[in-house]
Amino acid sequence: MILVSSANGAIGIDGVWKHFSEGLDALSAVERATWFVEDNEEDNSVGRGGLPNLDGEVELDASIMDGTTRSAGAVAGLKGYRHPISVARAVMEISPHVLIVGEGAARFAKEIGAERADLLTEKAAKIWREGLESLPEGLSGEILKKAKALTQDPDKAVGTVNFLAIDSKGKMASAVSTSGWAWKWPGRAGDSPVIGAGNYCDARFGAAACTGFGELSLRASTARTIVSYLSQGATPEEAGVRALLDLKDLDVDPSSMIMHSVIIGADGSHAAVSTDEKALYAWRDESCSSTQIERRIHVAV
Ligand code: ASP
Repeated sequence: MILVSSANGAIGIDGVWKHFSEGLDALSAVERATWFVEDNEEDNSVGRGGLPNLDGEVELDASIMDGTTRSAGAVAGLKGYRHPISVARAVMEISPHVLIVGEGAARFAKEIGAERADLLTEKAAKIWREGLESLPEGLSGEILKKAKALTQDPDKAVGTVNFLAIDSKGKMASAVSTSGWAWKWPGRAGDSPVIGAGNYCDARFGAAACTGFGELSLRASTARTIVSYLSQGATPEEAGVRALLDLKDLDVDPSSMIMHSVIIGADGSHAAVSTDEKALYAWRDESCSSTQIERRIHVAV
């Protein structure tokens, strides 16, 4: 039995651990753990409090995957709903689809009676306004340039939450939720809602999820690649390191080479890797009396 998350998910592990240790299944555990982060207004990268897109609107991406059946559900560009992860779960369980975006995602959320929320906080709006201060209006070339510069500020632009779990019955699940890059182009979808890019779970081998510049993991199918390496016998650490090294020759600005992955193996082993020397992750299993925060393995790319 184990729960692993990006460092900002520690509150979610703490929040669900009691129920999880008493038998809550992996899928519900990753969904409910995500709720804590989606509700955390201090976190500017997930749910309410998330930083908005270029137009000042918070657009949420989320995905969930059941490793036992490899069923998956996701939403992208969802506006106005408190728990995108639960809308993603409903996409998986109720609809015949895997990914629903934009207006269609909002219509689906309404249809299932998902809870609405005002996602933009004053703090997030202030950060957004400050970033846009020098943006000339109406010049689309300039807007694109400025948007690019803003979205490449790693201190402000990125953040997302990942959860991976194996429950007491050996079932495995993964969840990812984000408001995506701050100042992103309206309608831009990142890796978080894309199964294989930001999230992948296969109970036979393990699971992986990503945070960082989603355009990298979209191009390299990073989460699926990690699970493929696991299926070939790599440990979570080896699989994660290899997948980040796979990013090395993508032609990107070095400041955009930011990727972090959390990984579990089918046997409950776990690791986390990052292009950032200081990045952390969180985990807890039945041997721990509290959530552990650990340094990720640094991969220089
Ligand atoms: N991966 C997310 C995205 O590209 C952002 C992040 O993880 O920081 O939208």
